[in-house]
Amino acid sequence: MSTFKYLPLAIAIVTSVGCSSDKVKEVEVIKEVEVIKEVEVIKEVEVIKEVEVIKEVEVIKEVEVMKEVISGRANQGGVVLTFDDGHCVDSWVEHAHLFEEHGATATLYVSKYNSDMTANLLDLQSRGFEIAHHTTYHANAVEWAEKEGVESWLSGAVLNSLTTMRNDGLNVTAFAFPFGAYNLELSEALSAEFTSVRGYLTPKTESLRFATQSDGYFYNGIGIDSAYFEPQERVFGAMERAMKTGRDLVLVGHCIVEGEVTDRWQTPTSTLLKIFEHAKKIGMEFKTMNQLK
Ligand SMILES: [Zn+2]
Repeated sequence: MSTFKYLPLAIAIVTSVGCSSDKVKEVEVIKEVEVIKEVEVIKEVEVIKEVEVIKEVEVIKEVEVMKEVISGRANQGGVVLTFDDGHCVDSWVEHAHLFEEHGATATLYVSKYNSDMTANLLDLQSRGFEIAHHTTYHANAVEWAEKEGVESWLSGAVLNSLTTMRNDGLNVTAFAFPFGAYNLELSEALSAEFTSVRGYLTPKTESLRFATQSDGYFYNGIGIDSAYFEPQERVFGAMERAMKTGRDLVLVGHCIVEGEVTDRWQTPTSTLLKIFEHAKKIGMEFKTMNQLK
């Protein structure tokens, strides 16, 4: 709002001062009354001005809130490529350039961590990949906890190697259960150390709709290994659904291989390229687990 709007009123006040004849006095009285009225009007206008200013602030606040809401959903839905198992580290290193060439990244869940992996994992981390935890021995968590208890599993399968990884400079905040074997108790027990926990849907899961129904802590991934990659009907469909609903989709693979696969738990580079292409086509962004909200 411009202050120039009130300038004529201010001029009227100034011109009413300094006149001397009777007629003029009358006029002055009238003018004074008018001036008083005008001042009152100004006051009223100023009050209105104040109200309007306050309203403007409120509008700005509302706009900011809307922006937050929009950005929360509008990630337009992202896709997180995740890969499991410590024995796959070399395959990830070998193919890291493919991700970089396509503006993609990934979260890499390392099991059976040892010092031979450290340099490679630190290098991948420095290139924007996220290094995550996949237990010390890759044992079935549910079976371990049933036999030995949750505390035993936590200290013997998680905290020991997690501490080593962190001491080695790896920023580990995400966890994935081996074999997709999990339960609520184990998942909750991990919340003190991890910001996200991942399981996965099996090939027998009829609808991949569940893959994007996350609670912000537990995420279900869907497989992209040769064991069960079905591009058009399932994975691409899930990507499109995630985009439409503003959610994040988590995909799960293991070792990355060039050419023909030799095992069911391998992701061929041809599959990766298809996912990169489809994401580009629908304008989908790649994220890591530690970027999810
Ligand atoms: Zn695994």
